[in-house]
Amino acid sequence: MNKKSIKNIDLADKRIVMRVDFNVPIENGKIMDDTRILAALPTIEYILKHNTSLVLMSHLGRPSGSGFEEKFSLKPVADHLSTLLRKTVIMAPDCIGTEVVSLVSKLNSGEIIMLENTRFHSEETGMVDTKSIPPALLREAQNDVKLKQEKMAQQLANLGGVFVNDAFGTAHRAHASTSIITKFIDTAVGGLLMEKELNFLGNAIESPDRPFVAIIGGAKISGKLDLLKSLIKKVDCLIIGGGMSYTFKKAKGKKIGKSIVENDLLGVALETIAAAEKFGKKILLPIDNVIADDFNENANVQTVSGDFPDDWEGVDIGKETIELFCEEISKAKTILWNGPMGCFEMKPFSNGTTAVCKAVANSDAVSIIGGGDSVSAVKQAGLSEKMTHVSTGGGASLEFLEGKELPGVVALNDN
Ligand code: AMP
Repeated sequence: MNKKSIKNIDLADKRIVMRVDFNVPIENGKIMDDTRILAALPTIEYILKHNTSLVLMSHLGRPSGSGFEEKFSLKPVADHLSTLLRKTVIMAPDCIGTEVVSLVSKLNSGEIIMLENTRFHSEETGMVDTKSIPPALLREAQNDVKLKQEKMAQQLANLGGVFVNDAFGTAHRAHASTSIITKFIDTAVGGLLMEKELNFLGNAIESPDRPFVAIIGGAKISGKLDLLKSLIKKVDCLIIGGGMSYTFKKAKGKKIGKSIVENDLLGVALETIAAAEKFGKKILLPIDNVIADDFNENANVQTVSGDFPDDWEGVDIGKETIELFCEEISKAKTILWNGPMGCFEMKPFSNGTTAVCKAVANSDAVSIIGGGDSVSAVKQAGLSEKMTHVSTGGGASLEFLEGKELPGVVALNDN
């Protein structure tokens, strides 16, 4: 990446303030998936080895922003991190305020403190509730929130001498702890996870080994419109599956029964197909589908290759499509996968997603899994280890691949 990382600066004897993405699922105080914590360990260990003390900050969930809420506390995360590192992780009662300043000032080299959820303060996100404010007062309210956000960012910056951002998963947000903080601290660099994410995703987009095959699925085109537009110019082959493929099918004049569809995007679907032709790119759509007469696991199913009957809906790709897609995947040198091929959360409709997952895992290509639901599918199949890179950031990886600038990255020092 063209931004500085912790490897480019002298950390010794400094106190480091690091933004991590510890937004992990917690049920009844128990962490259900610690992937994001494990992903930050190399950076944490690297920093602590350099005679430093470390202040960690993160958000967790979506609290109201008006103070402490037990169910959004990062205490279980601090405890878990403590176990993983085999050392005490001090838990702060808040992320700003006099008590936090006092605790942080007492930190010795090698010690680590976890600040409480940054989103306990509404200033973190700097969001204005536009519905509750009369339009005439909106600008004033927005300026006021901006000032408060800067004040919070400054308080966070004052906790250390170096800012490290390792929270790729929140890098697409311009929040107090992710990007605004850099206005108040001279040294702002990426962590090892940030560096890894940007290198893998950046290389895939800028200089992929070819053939470069992108597999895009998921419920809707609308959420991935910019991604499709950006990828069509860069890939050699675009594979489209999942709910979004029915909009393409309908656009091509086929009947799709009561499948999920975005009627306002039929034109966009045709434009995408035309763009593929214009740029000389291959575009693969399902040639057969598993359809169901109801949206539940016990529904009747059949596989069809032409029009769908009126009361049936597409829930997965069919066997011939699986063969077609897997054949293309086996020839790829770089694979990017974002979005499931069907309603994979329901076992009878998960075959297409699982088959694609296995084909990607068995290929020799650089394989990058960049998105929430594909990551879940890979984990569900137990194949994470066989992928080259499983991104920790759903929304952030999507925006990065769309070619958008991520505020949490832009704000870091240039290399
Ligand atoms: P996304 O967040 O856009 O990647 O969409 C992921 C979701 O798309 C998953 O929850 C899938 O169950 C859903 N999905 C995939 N295929 C279909 C389909 N044929 N009908 C309805 N939902 C689908």
